[in-house]
Amino acid sequence: MVGSEAGLGSRIEHALDQPLWKSADPVLRRMFEESTEAADRASVRGGVRAAVACFILFGAFDLWLFPDTGVASALTRVVVGLFFLFLVEIQSHKKLSLSIINITCALGLFAAAIAWLLVAGNTAYQVQYWQFFVFGAVFVFSSSLFFRLKFWISATCSASLTVLFSVAAIISDAPSSSKVILVSFFVIFLGFALYLSWQLAAERYVTFLNGLRARLSEAAAREKGQQLAQLANTDYLTGLRNRRAVVQEYDESRERWLRDGRHIGVLLIDVDYFKPYNDFYGHQRGDQCLVEIGRALDVAAAAAGAVLGRYGGEEFIAFQSVPDKAALFDFAESLRKTVEALAIPHFRRRDGFSYVTVSIGATMTRDASPNLDRESAEADNALYSAKAGGRNGTQIFDPAAPLSDDEDRAIADILTQATAEGLVSLVYQPVVEVTSGKVHAVESLMRLRGPDGTLISPSVFIPVAERTGAIIALGYWALRTACIEVLKPGIAEKVSVNVSAIQLRASGFPLFVANLLGEFDLKPTRLALEITEGADIASDPQSLQAISALRELGVEIWLDDFGTGYAGLAWLHAAHFEAVKIDHRFLHGIATREGAVFLQNIIRLLQDRGLSVIIEGVESQEQLEFLAKCHVLLAQGYYLGRPVPAAQVGRRDEHSPLGHSGRA
Ligand code: C2E
Ligand code: CA
Ligand code: CA
Repeated sequence: MVGSEAGLGSRIEHALDQPLWKSADPVLRRMFEESTEAADRASVRGGVRAAVACFILFGAFDLWLFPDTGVASALTRVVVGLFFLFLVEIQSHKKLSLSIINITCALGLFAAAIAWLLVAGNTAYQVQYWQFFVFGAVFVFSSSLFFRLKFWISATCSASLTVLFSVAAIISDAPSSSKVILVSFFVIFLGFALYLSWQLAAERYVTFLNGLRARLSEAAAREKGQQLAQLANTDYLTGLRNRRAVVQEYDESRERWLRDGRHIGVLLIDVDYFKPYNDFYGHQRGDQCLVEIGRALDVAAAAAGAVLGRYGGEEFIAFQSVPDKAALFDFAESLRKTVEALAIPHFRRRDGFSYVTVSIGATMTRDASPNLDRESAEADNALYSAKAGGRNGTQIFDPAAPLSDDEDRAIADILTQATAEGLVSLVYQPVVEVTSGKVHAVESLMRLRGPDGTLISPSVFIPVAERTGAIIALGYWALRTACIEVLKPGIAEKVSVNVSAIQLRASGFPLFVANLLGEFDLKPTRLALEITEGADIASDPQSLQAISALRELGVEIWLDDFGTGYAGLAWLHAAHFEAVKIDHRFLHGIATREGAVFLQNIIRLLQDRGLSVIIEGVESQEQLEFLAKCHVLLAQGYYLGRPVPAAQVGRRDEHSPLGHSGRA
């Protein structure tokens, strides 16, 4: 369209530049004829009517000047005139081509002239007859200027009429001088008429060209404006609405939707593990992936009457009018499944999944004063939870949930770049055999430094990481690092790694662990995963399934912090564990008699169930001796070994338990 218009534009410029007598551009000529066709048809019909009327009225001259043949010639006028009038009317009515009508008019003029000449030529009043020839000029004039005939038709017709009247003059009884005057008059008149007719046609053509040029440049300007507006509102990569356009449409839609008493659902859609995708497959494939996802989401959103755009990076935004939370959830899930169905391969995810998926956080307007900033922040919050819940999921913002404060926000920011920036590290604390002092295993503990170097306590950053979902990536990083730092070089026979419930629920977690063991060629029994008991996990089928899958691999599962949660005993029923770690508070309670008995009872209970027991928080020789009396085999605590970096693990500067010498 744009290309052909550009071509037309240059044709017009060319046509306007070249001299008028050069043959016209055929395309423009056709356009010109098409554009003037309706006016020309009307003009021809009107011209014929006027001409026939004049022709018949001139019969009065016949009756007056030629008393002998006047009646016959006047009647000839009527017959010929009306015949051609009807002919042209019928042709117009039948919408015959303008050329045929034009030729009919020309023939009509010629026929009228010749018929009159033949009939009136019989008169005895020859002087009046040849004097009357001057009216031949009227015929020439009519054919050239009156009918708006095509130039070549009118020129042919005018020339023929000129010849006709010249011949008639030559063969008449007129004196030679009059013949010369008449013929000269006809020829000169023909020249003038042709010139005027050509000039008129050329001017009409030029006017048409100028008009066309103006229309064209107006259209071009309009299109350019539209293109600019579109450019400003379109995401360059996906062709979707950009952030700006989405905000604009949100503002336009909200009044209408709120008037209808509906809520507006705002959704943030984030591509899971997009960075590793980009890193592994390259930016071009990354872009392609975003385009594909964007298109699919756009189609799905449009089908649901929603508005979709790219929010930036690997994030899309959608909003839709929704009656309630359930509808919002259904819509979000339909978008999530749309992407899942694309099945774009992604073998660099850290959760064992092999396709590209999205996580969706959504929220809904709750009052009559919607604000996209607030809603997108809420959706963002929900998105974090969706990611924390294992990705490829949907989370609806819960206004009742506590909002994180500024400090948590800052930590969340640090966590997003912790592994990439080397802000996170692992230290290892030995789990020691009480009687021999041998290191049974080391527990990996995460350490985080802020960008300014200050240490942030795990009790502060782990809960934030769990809330934001950063724990999933951090957890994978920790497992991998423990294998690299401890198991591979053989610094310890076994490592126990803390695993959050959120990691456990992430789809593909057992697969990740299996791949890791395969990658480093490690015996599965060298790895233990410490899982903290929590209220909901014992009844969460996904977690229990992950635990049994991991045990099938041969990986040990240890129950951490036993006695601090709500469902300790329920846990013991629900899943199998290789060991149970009893929280340090119980050991610190043995200072009282009741506390000592209580711990003894717990230990016996667990041992009776065939579970191995690990006591945490041993800080003194007395505590260690107490544990030996209780037949506790494994213990952990500052007294037995502080958490240290991998390079310092196994350096025997801690106390030998119960006076025995520790492992060399
Ligand atoms: P936890 O798993 O119970 O880890 C034991 C905590 O007790 C560690 O604190 C350790 O430094 C501390 N501890 C060791 N011996 C003694 C002792 O004799 N006396 C006392 N009072 N404390 C002792 P830390 O390193 O601050 O870790 C706190 C918690 O953070 C951990 O508790 C664990 O729940 C969590 N955490 C640490 N690293 C990770 C990790 O990589 N992943 C996950 N999901 N959680 C982790
Ligand atoms: Ca632990
Ligand atoms: Ca613990």
